[in-house]
Amino acid sequence: MLGLEHEVGAWDSVLLEPLTEDSFIANLQQRFKRDHIYTYVGNVLVSVNPYKKLALYSADLVEAYVERGPFQLPPHIYAIAGSAYRWLNDRNEDQCIIVTGESGAGKTEAARIVLQFLVLVSGNSPEVKLVKDRLVQANTLLEAFGNARTMKNDNASRFGKFLDIEFDFKGDPIGGHLTHYFLDKSRVTSLASCDRNFHVFYQLLSGADIHLLKCLKLHRNVEQYSILQTETNQPTLSEEEDKNLFVYTRNALEILGFTNNDIIDIFRVIAIVLKLGNLQYVPCNNIDGTEGCSINNDYELFEVCELLGIEHRWLQRALTSRQFEDGIMTDLNAVDAAKIRDILCKTLYSRLFTWLIHRINDIIKAKSLGKRKVLGVLDLYGFEVFEENGFEQLMINFCNEKLHQFITAATLKEEQEELVKEGLEWTKIEYFNNIVICQLLEHDSHGVLSLLEEPHVQSDAAYLSRVEQCCAGHSHCLTADATLPSHSFQIRHYAGTVTYRVHGFVEKNRDTLPKEVSRVMFRCDHPIMQALFPEGNPKRCNVKRPISESMQIQVSLNALLKSLAVRQVHYIRCLKPNELKQPRIFEIALIQHQVRYLGLIATVQMWRTGYCYRLPYIQFLCRYKMVCGNTWPRWRGSPIEGVSVLLRSLPIPSAEFTFGRTKLFVRSPRTVFELEDFRRA
Ligand code: ATP
Ligand code: MG
Repeated sequence: MLGLEHEVGAWDSVLLEPLTEDSFIANLQQRFKRDHIYTYVGNVLVSVNPYKKLALYSADLVEAYVERGPFQLPPHIYAIAGSAYRWLNDRNEDQCIIVTGESGAGKTEAARIVLQFLVLVSGNSPEVKLVKDRLVQANTLLEAFGNARTMKNDNASRFGKFLDIEFDFKGDPIGGHLTHYFLDKSRVTSLASCDRNFHVFYQLLSGADIHLLKCLKLHRNVEQYSILQTETNQPTLSEEEDKNLFVYTRNALEILGFTNNDIIDIFRVIAIVLKLGNLQYVPCNNIDGTEGCSINNDYELFEVCELLGIEHRWLQRALTSRQFEDGIMTDLNAVDAAKIRDILCKTLYSRLFTWLIHRINDIIKAKSLGKRKVLGVLDLYGFEVFEENGFEQLMINFCNEKLHQFITAATLKEEQEELVKEGLEWTKIEYFNNIVICQLLEHDSHGVLSLLEEPHVQSDAAYLSRVEQCCAGHSHCLTADATLPSHSFQIRHYAGTVTYRVHGFVEKNRDTLPKEVSRVMFRCDHPIMQALFPEGNPKRCNVKRPISESMQIQVSLNALLKSLAVRQVHYIRCLKPNELKQPRIFEIALIQHQVRYLGLIATVQMWRTGYCYRLPYIQFLCRYKMVCGNTWPRWRGSPIEGVSVLLRSLPIPSAEFTFGRTKLFVRSPRTVFELEDFRRA
C-alpha cells in the first residue's frame, strides 16, 4: 500500500512552490506519467483520464481509505467519497458529489467509482445488499439506454443524471432516486458520421437469441436498419462486445425486478423504433391534385402494427395524413410524412427512457419511513463543441454553464463574501464569473432560450431573427456576422466558443407529435403505450401540452441547484488529456484550456490564502469538546472563549485557526482530519 511518501510531485497543488499555471500543469503531467491521475486542490479532487485500466480500485483500497481517512493516503476518489460518507453519518448532513469536466474527461467513470465505494463500505444484510444491487444495476441499465458513441467519447452520456442515495442511521443504503435531464433524443433518427445510436439498439441486435429476434421481428444485421446507418459506419464496439453487454443489460433488468414479459415489452419498443425508422415514403398524387404519399415498404409497417397490437389502417392513416382543427383530413406529402415518422421514433424512445426511470424509481424507493440522509452524485454530460452544433449542444452547454456558475458561486464568490462578513482579511482572487452568460441564455424576456418560447416564433428563421434583434452586441453573443456560417449564431461560453446552427431548433424544442398519432398509439394493445402517450386518451380532452424541452431543462436544473445549495458539496473535476482517447498522451495545450476555464488556479490560490473549513463556535464546541477528555475545564463563558480554551489544549499550531465574528476558521484540510482523529481516538 502506497503512502504519501511515495507520491510523485505535489499531491496537493496547494503545496506547490512557486504556484503558477505552468507549475500546476507540470505537476499534473509529472504525476500523470507515473499513473498518479489524482491530485488535490485543497479538498477538490482533480482527475486526469488515464484512458487505460489502472490498479487503483479494489476492496482493499476502499478499506484503507476508510481506516486512514484522506490526506494520509494518496489523492483518490475513494477519499472524496469517504469524506462525503463520513460527514453524512457523523454530522447528519445531506451530501453531494459533483463531477464535472468535458465530454470524455471521465465523469461517468468517476461516478461509478463513487458508487462502488459506497457499496463496499456499507452493510451486507440481505435487504441492504438488494438495495445496493439495484442501485448498481440501475446505473448499468441507464448507460445502455442513455449513452452512445460520439466523436468525443465512445460511451458519451446523452442525458444528465443525478442519483440520490438514501441512507439509514447506520449508514446503510435503503433506497434512492434518479433524476434525469434532457435526453439527446435527436440521435435516434439522425447521426453524425462518426457516431452511433444509443448502445441498446446494437446490444439487442447482437445479443438477442434467435427466439427473441423472431418474436421482435428483427434481423441480426445492423445494416438492415436505417436509423443505425451513418456515412462512415465505423462502430468501435465489436459485435462481440455489444453481445456481451446485452447480457449485462438484460441481467440488470432482471435484478431490478422487471418480469420476463416487461423485458420483452421494453425490447418490443426498441424493435418498433428500429422498424418505424425504416419506413420509406413515395410521393403520389391525390384525386384533388394535391401531393400525397404512400409507404413503399408496407411490410415493415405491417410488422410494426403487429408488434404494437394495432390495426394497420389506423397507424397507416395517422402516419400519412393530418387532421385539422375543423376535422378535415388532408394527405401529407412524403417529406412531411417522413418528419412525423422521425418525431414518432424519437418520442417513443425518449418516453420509454423516462418510463424506465420512473419504474426504476419505484423499484429503488426506500421502503421504510423515518428520518434519512441522502448522498447525491451528479454526472451531467460534459461541455461539447463539434464542427456542427445544434439544439442538443445548446441544451447540454446550458447545463454546463449553470453548473459552472453554481460551483464558482459556491467556492469562490461566497467564500470571499463570507470572509468579509466575518471580519477576516482576504485577498482578492481574480476569476471569471459566467453569470453574464447564464443571463444571456435564460433572461426572462430576451434570453437565447426564452426566445424559443415566444408564441410567434414558429420557424427557425423567425427564431434566429429574434436572437439577432435581442442579443446583438452582447459581449458573449455574435449574430449576423460575415464570419458566421448562414443560419447561425455564436456564443462565447465559459469553456469555449460555439457556433450554433438553428436548423430544427423550434421543432426540437416543442413536442410536436400530431394528436392523431398519439391517439393511435394510445389505442395500441401494447402494455406500456397508454403510459407513454397519455395525451392520446380520448377521455382526457384537457391533457396539458408537455412543456418545451428548454423550459423543462431550466425548471429542473434550477430546482436541482436549489437543492444542492443546502448540502455539503464535494467536487471531482475531471480533465481530458488528449482528443485521441489514447493512454500516455498529455497534451499541455488541451489541459491548459481546461485548467483555465475550470478556474483551477483561482481555486488553488483561494486555498492557499484561505480556509478550508469553518464552524459556528457553539457547533464547534459541541462537536469537539470531547477531544479534551477528562481535562475539559468546568468553564462558563461565551462559546468563543470556550473554543479558544479547547484549542489551547490541542497539539495543533495556533496559526491553523482564525477567529471570525461568529465562526472558527481552519486553514488546512489536514487539521480538520486531525481534529476528527482526536474525536475518534
Ligand atoms: P461524457 O460527458 O461524454 O459522458 P464522461 O466525462 O462521462 O464523458 P467517461 O465516459 O467517464 O467520460 O470516460 C470516457 C472513457 O475514458 C471511459 O469509457 C474509459 O474508457 C476512460 N476512463 C475514464 N476514467 C477512467 C479511469 N479512471 N480509469 C480508466 N479509464 C477511464
Ligand atoms: Mg458521461
